Amino acid sequence: MTRFAFSLIAITLFLTSFSFCNAQDLQVVVNPSIAWQGKVLSVKLVSAEGVAGVKARFLNQDFKLFRTSDDYHGVVGVPLNQKPGYYNLKLIITRADGKTQNLTKQLKVWATRFSFSKFWLKPSKNKLRRRSLINEEWAQIEKVLRIEEDNQFWLGKFAKPVKGKISQGFGHKQIINGRGAGSHRGTDFAVLNGTKVFAPNYGKVVFAKKLSAFGGTMVLDHGQGIHTLYFHLSKLIAPIGKVVTRGELIALSGNSGISSGPHLHWGMSVHNLRVDAMQWVKHEI
Ligand SMILES: [Zn+2]
Repeated sequence: MTRFAFSLIAITLFLTSFSFCNAQDLQVVVNPSIAWQGKVLSVKLVSAEGVAGVKARFLNQDFKLFRTSDDYHGVVGVPLNQKPGYYNLKLIITRADGKTQNLTKQLKVWATRFSFSKFWLKPSKNKLRRRSLINEEWAQIEKVLRIEEDNQFWLGKFAKPVKGKISQGFGHKQIINGRGAGSHRGTDFAVLNGTKVFAPNYGKVVFAKKLSAFGGTMVLDHGQGIHTLYFHLSKLIAPIGKVVTRGELIALSGNSGISSGPHLHWGMSVHNLRVDAMQWVKHEI
């Protein structure tokens, strides 16, 4: 098959949403129809008349569907190391009369092809790669990722937080100083120290602190369990609690923490699972 034909199929698969119904005319739309490692699925219950609440479960993750004007909407991520195969998406629907009803659909998880990235850390940076230090700092960050706001702050697609080339994509298998070092849980942009970092969407600053391993760190809460993360910053501009709009200046990029050169690490977290932020730039979730 030609590469062109393959990409056409890939595009079609991505654009096609998948819907299923039950006898009572409850319609669930899953978009995209295929679950890719490291990406998210948008799950919508449409024609939700008489529905009082919806909970869902997929890949051992419980998540909530939130009420919008006339349906229920939720987002769930696929871990980047999830074994490809068939898995059940389960919806537990509570009716206005208190009765519950389950809907189950089998979805396929497909393998995403991740590249390799090799880089070198100088000794002063490499000595920050201590598990105890990283764990202690990550625990501080994770605390805010676990807090889920019922409101949806984000609207439409996300913008890239900086103007610049991607130097390392999400999921790249990292080889640091010649040794395998796990998968990259964000998108790196190669930008000079002091490059302006802008909020990619509407949200609220929930973490802003200079850390040793992660460097200058900021987290924005976009509501409903969606957060974006910024590492290695040289200056934190927007303070904790600040409500930000898309395109608002929040920080300056840098090279602080475990970093091999000036860049911005941009992460996306969905119910405390790191996923590929670029999916949110390319598509409205
Ligand atoms: Zn990175």
